[in-house]
Amino acid sequence: RALQLVRRLRDNSAFVNAFSSASGSQRLAGKVAAITGGASGIGRATAAEFVRNGARVIIADVQDDLGRAAAAELGAGDTAIYTRCDVTDEAQVAAAVDLAVARHGRLDVMFNNAGIGGDMRSAALASMDMADFDRVMAVNTRGVVAGVKHAARVMVPRRAGSIICTASTAALLGSLGTVAYGVSKAAVVGLVRAAAAELARSGVRVNAVSPHGVPTPLAMRAVAQWYPERSAEEHRRIVVEDMNEMVGPVLEEEDIARAALYLASDEAKYVNGHNLVVDGGYTVNKPLNM
Ligand code: NAD
Repeated sequence: RALQLVRRLRDNSAFVNAFSSASGSQRLAGKVAAITGGASGIGRATAAEFVRNGARVIIADVQDDLGRAAAAELGAGDTAIYTRCDVTDEAQVAAAVDLAVARHGRLDVMFNNAGIGGDMRSAALASMDMADFDRVMAVNTRGVVAGVKHAARVMVPRRAGSIICTASTAALLGSLGTVAYGVSKAAVVGLVRAAAAELARSGVRVNAVSPHGVPTPLAMRAVAQWYPERSAEEHRRIVVEDMNEMVGPVLEEEDIARAALYLASDEAKYVNGHNLVVDGGYTVNKPLNM
């Protein structure tokens, strides 16, 4: 009789829905995701969101202590695995992808999210340091190209997969961050379109997510360089309030994580080559001089 009861509950969709919403909606059940820059900020929040939704994750980063701590926090066994991966080295990106396949037999989602802000003292054209430009491009663009290339290598033969790349509203606005940062992120949007076009018939989707001001270490460091004379509290206020002035509620890592979750999930099966901007309307709102 106990078995009958279990079967009846299993077949009762109201029960199943109630259970699955209580335990997270499991929108990535059984899937495997790799997340570059997964040790901190948006990447870390996304790793948590993916695990909550039933995925197993590979956290790929250069901050070993933070990466290991994030993996340990997310679950036991192979729920979350940390691997050191400097995205400027293509071989390390290839190895992170291969690790997912070796440990789990597949890679369903690749989140190319690692990024750096560059040196704000090199923000203007006149003071631009070309070595800083090269560093920013190496991480934010070349690193993402490597991630797309190697994710496609293992996804195309299976004719399935979702590749997500972190761009930025700096790809759309000319006034956010350094020239190098804006160039590197606009290139990511271009890459996403080119890769989506190439892979459209292979069953692999490629999209971008573009965050705006989220008070992560990256954003806080940039504002601190811009306004060195101000306090840390003031730096946070600038990211949270000034950068999001039209919106009101604070933009958080989790908001970007949920956008990435959507793009990763099968709910977005027909969304391809898209740049999902998560900025509360900041980039479409031009204040009128009335
Ligand atoms: P963060 O500093 O918290 O996280 C970035 C992570 O990338 C760090 O863990 C860092 O160690 C890792 N990383 C840096 N260089 C790397 C490399 N060579 N190889 C591997 N990992 C590397 O900052 P975040 O804000 O969470 O940044 C995540 C992404 O979001 C970045 O691409 C960033 O440009 C983008 N973004 C952030 C904001 C914002 O306001 N925070 C806005 C728009 C876009």
